[in-house]
Amino acid sequence: MYLNSPVEELPLVGPSYARRLNNLGIVSIKDLLYHVPHRYLDFRVSSPVRAAAPEDVLTIRGKVVSIKNQYTRSGRKIQIGEVEDASGKITVVWFNQPFLVRVLFPEAEISLAGKVGFFSGRKALISPEYELIKQGKTSIHTSGLVPIYPETFGLSSKWLRGRIAETLASLGSTIKETLPLKFIKSEGLIPLTDAIHAVHHPASEDEAEKGRQRLAFDELLELQLTSISRKAGWKNNQTGHTLAFEESDVDKFIDSLPFALTASQQSAVEEILGDLTRAWPMNRLLEGDVGSGKTVVAAIAAFVCFINGLQTAVMAPTQILAQQHYETLQRIFKPFKLRVALITSGLVKKDLGRTDIFVGTHALLNKKGLFENVGLVVIDEQHRFGVEQRALLVKQVGKKKLMPHILTMTATPIPRTVALTLYGDLDLSVLKELPGGRQKITTWIVPPAKRPKAMTWVKDEILKDKVQAFLICPLIEESDKETMQSVKAAAKEYAEQKKIFSELSFGLIHGKLSGKDKDRVMSDFRKGKIDVLVATPVVEVGIDVANATIMLIEGSERFGLAQLHQLRGRVGRGEKKSYCLIFSDSAAPRVLTRLAALEKGISGFELAELDLSLRGPGEVFGTRQHGFPELKIASWQDTELIQKAKRVAQMLSDKGFVLATKASMV
Ligand code: ADP
Ligand code: MG
Repeated sequence: MYLNSPVEELPLVGPSYARRLNNLGIVSIKDLLYHVPHRYLDFRVSSPVRAAAPEDVLTIRGKVVSIKNQYTRSGRKIQIGEVEDASGKITVVWFNQPFLVRVLFPEAEISLAGKVGFFSGRKALISPEYELIKQGKTSIHTSGLVPIYPETFGLSSKWLRGRIAETLASLGSTIKETLPLKFIKSEGLIPLTDAIHAVHHPASEDEAEKGRQRLAFDELLELQLTSISRKAGWKNNQTGHTLAFEESDVDKFIDSLPFALTASQQSAVEEILGDLTRAWPMNRLLEGDVGSGKTVVAAIAAFVCFINGLQTAVMAPTQILAQQHYETLQRIFKPFKLRVALITSGLVKKDLGRTDIFVGTHALLNKKGLFENVGLVVIDEQHRFGVEQRALLVKQVGKKKLMPHILTMTATPIPRTVALTLYGDLDLSVLKELPGGRQKITTWIVPPAKRPKAMTWVKDEILKDKVQAFLICPLIEESDKETMQSVKAAAKEYAEQKKIFSELSFGLIHGKLSGKDKDRVMSDFRKGKIDVLVATPVVEVGIDVANATIMLIEGSERFGLAQLHQLRGRVGRGEKKSYCLIFSDSAAPRVLTRLAALEKGISGFELAELDLSLRGPGEVFGTRQHGFPELKIASWQDTELIQKAKRVAQMLSDKGFVLATKASMV
C-alpha cells in the first residue's frame, strides 16, 4: 500500500465506501490525506462528571452504567444512558441512534464529548460524540480539536477521522516534501508532513491554520505552474502574424473618431499593438466595465490588421449584439473604406473573401476554413475565457497555418486574486475609467412595500419624458444558458405588467425567440415603439439604446452585485438622466444592506471584490457555470497566499524547476 494506491486498498474500505469517497473527489490514499477539515470541534477541556455545568462543552471519561432505547410519543427512538466516573454520575442522551445500545454496552470504558444541557429536568450530556477507550490508543473523536470534514451521503466525519488517523499512522512517514527547503523558509510555510498532521490533529487553531495555509499554497502553486506552462506552450508552439504599421496611419484612424481615447484605452491600445508586432500570437483579455469603450479598442487592432492585408473576425454572444457591432464598425470604418460584413447563416463563404472584417456569433468558432486569412479574432462578452476557445481555434486553423491573434473582451469585473490565479496565462489589459461626460446612474433599492409607488413613478417618467425602460426578470436558475423556466417567468411578468400599466406599450425578449422575432422586438425598441422591454437576465448583454434611461431589476437578491452593476450599465448611455430601480422580494436588512452598495456609485471592480468577500466567487460571476474551478483547500480570500504562489511559481519555472506536485509525489 502506497500513497498513490487507490482508496480501495485501505482496510475497511470496500467498493461502496470507495464510491462515496470518489464522490468527494478522493480517489487515492493521498487524496484522503489532503481532505482538509472545514472546521474543528473544540474538546480541549475535560472535566470530572460532577463539575460539568450546563452550556459547558467538554470531554468526560467514565464507565457506562446503563443504556437503553426509549420510544417517544411520536414513535422516535431516543437512547438514554448513565455514565459514571470517580466524581459521580451523569445522564447522556442521543436521538435516533438505536445501535448505540450495542456499541456502548454497560461496563464499557468510554470517552464522551459534547455540550451539557438538560433532559427531563436533569443535567445531561446531549448527543455527545463518543468512543470506546482502547488501551494504547489516543482518542480522536472526543478530545482536543476534533476535525469536521466535508462530508457526503453515507460518509460521516467520524468515519473519515478513523480512516485518516489510521492512514497517517501507517503511511505518514512516507510523505515526501515537494518544495525546496529554501522556499519553505522564505515564504514562512511549514513542511508538508507537519502540515498534513496539523490539519488533521492540530494542537491549536493556529497550528491548524498554518497547516491549511501550506496545503493551500501547494494547490495554488500547481494552478500557477499550469498557467505558466500553458502560456509558454502558446508562445513556443504557435506562430502568429507579425504585423507592421506606421504609427501615423493608426493615429489618422484614431483622430477620425468622434472622441478622444481615455487614458486606459490608450494604454490598452499600446499593449495590444505591441502584441501584434510579435512573432507569437496575442492572447489577451481586455476587461472593462460596461460602457468603458472596449469596442473601439478592438477596432483599432482590426485596423492594424487591415493595413497588413488581413481580416478580423469579431464574435458576439448573440445575433443582436453581432448586429450592433456590425453597425458600429461599419460606421467608424466608413471613411477608410473597410468592408464590414455580418455573417448570418445565409452568407456563403465566397463573400467573405471580399470583406475586411466579419462579425458573427461565437458559433463562428465551430466553422472550418473561415480563418485562413484572419489575423485577429475578437471575442466579445465571453464568460469562459481562453482555454476551450483557443483549443477550438487551433483545431479550425490547423497546425500548418499561422495562428490569429486573440483578443477576448469582458465586462465581468474579475477580482485581482481570481485573475492572478485562473487567468495567469492571459495577458490582461484593463479599462479602468468610463469615458468622461457619462453621468452617474441614480440607483434606488426598492423594498417590497415601496414597489407600487416606485412603479407609478416609472410610468409617469416614461409618459412625461418619452423615455424607455428595461425590466429584467429574476434569475430563476443558476445557469449560463437560458432555461424554459426563465422564459416562462419573463412571459408571465410581461403579461402582468401589461395589464397593470395599460397606458404603456410593452415588449418581450428572450433567448427562445427566433432570430427574426428578436430583431423585430429590438428594432421596435430602438425606434421607440416599445416603452418597456421585459427581458430575461441572460439575454443581450451590452445593448446600446440611448433613449432607454430606466433599468428595473426584479428579484435582485438573487444576483451578485457585480452582475446587477452590469445590468444597470445598459442605461445611462445617452445625454438624459438615467435611473436604476432595484426591486427586492426580501425586506431583510442583511439583503438590503448588501444591495445598498449599489447606491454608492462604486466601480464594478470594487463591487466584485465586495461580493467576493461577502459571498464567494460563484456569486460574483452570478452563476457557477462560468468555468471557475472550485478551490479545494485555498480560498479566493487568500489574497496574500495567491500572490506568494504566483511569485514562487515564476521563480521556480525561471529556474526550470519541475515541481513534484501532489499528483506526482511518491
Ligand atoms: P463596452 O465596453 O461596454 O463594450 P462600448 O464599446 O459599447 O462599451 O462603448 C460604449 C459607448 O461609449 C459607445 O457609444 C462608444 O462610442 C462610446 N465611447 C467609447 N470610447 C469613448 C471615449 N473615449 N469617449 C467618449 N465616448 C466613448
Ligand atoms: Mg461591448
